[in-house]
Amino acid sequence: MADQVILRNVTKRFATKTLGDIVAVDNFNLAVHEGECFSFLGPSGCGKSTTLRMIAGFEDLTEGEIELCGRLVSSSSKNLYVPPEERGLGMVFQAFAVWPHMNVFENVAFPLRIQKVSNAEVTERVNKALKHTSLTGLETTYPSDLSGGQQQRIALARAIVTNPKVMLLDEPLSNLDPKLRETMRFEIKELQREFGFTIIFVTHDQSEAMAISDRMMVCDMGKIMQIDTPENLYNKPVNRFVHNFLGESTFINVDVQDGKVYPKGDHTQAIKLDIPKDAAPQMVVATRPNEIELLAATEEGFKTRIEKRIFLTDRTEYLVPVGEQMVKIQTPHRVRFAQGDSCAVRFVDPMWYPMDDEEAEKERAKRQLF
Ligand code: ATP
Repeated sequence: MADQVILRNVTKRFATKTLGDIVAVDNFNLAVHEGECFSFLGPSGCGKSTTLRMIAGFEDLTEGEIELCGRLVSSSSKNLYVPPEERGLGMVFQAFAVWPHMNVFENVAFPLRIQKVSNAEVTERVNKALKHTSLTGLETTYPSDLSGGQQQRIALARAIVTNPKVMLLDEPLSNLDPKLRETMRFEIKELQREFGFTIIFVTHDQSEAMAISDRMMVCDMGKIMQIDTPENLYNKPVNRFVHNFLGESTFINVDVQDGKVYPKGDHTQAIKLDIPKDAAPQMVVATRPNEIELLAATEEGFKTRIEKRIFLTDRTEYLVPVGEQMVKIQTPHRVRFAQGDSCAVRFVDPMWYPMDDEEAEKERAKRQLF
């Protein structure tokens, strides 16, 4: 499969009055394949939108180069910059960006009018785009008479009418209610199947990204943390940040001493775990609340007790102390313990990470304030 969007050593620095130089995007290297749905995922300020804006051509690069469909469109060393309208991309942004003074048909026809496409062809292509976005019958309606979902469909129709090879979607669903978001997600995938374009999707919503993507890039503070399939990102996160960002996490700070693992600061009982070769004396053991086994106190495991039991619609949650830390466990309802019961817990194949980097936490907070 050909690579349709390639970023090579792309860096973007902004000079700010209050914080000095900010490296919004730090040496990004990535290749999005033809027909792929690729998401940029990460917390506010991690550099998602800046990257998308550089691909779109709204933002220049400080360093590096970008190639679209085999054509170099931005290069700092060659001083090359192809403007957005010549990049052949479809774009849909968070704000619906439909023109209120134009009816649905003319909104969708707009890019074709600029390209001076013949009237007959405009009609044919707009009708096709309207059909695929379920807007047929609303041609003469004005956007103000339509719902948010319908308005976002106009934006989608206007993007697909130009037959782009690559579609950039920047939080396109964030102004919609949850039910509609789900429907639209599905519709975007259908459109992709129908028209065969490549999607780059920007979101800070991890479940949305997991549902829609073939691969995702998780970034933090202007750095790529990991690029992989949703499944691998969830099951094999390369660091604590990615682990925490995707799905629910349970972290236990531990001391590794004399070949044993103890909850940090409490060495009365060891946790039975295989210790990785490169483990430092202090580590973080990471797992998911639904992957911890909660067993009778007579079974083998870390002996503890139920501190709290919370009955939820689809599962029961328990809080159990492990040393001085409280660990959340999620079980199906059939696993029954009462508050105060003794129990044993087992951690199945957890991940191991170094202890938190406090400087990184401070830097993250600073960026989100800005
Ligand atoms: P969000 O989800 O909030 O949109 P994001 O991940 O898209 O966040 P960016 O908008 O790409 O993040 O911003 C990355 C960093 O660059 C942030 O620290 C931001 O404050 C900074 N930044 C972005 N645009 C500018 C600008 N025009 N001038 C100065 N700094 C900027």
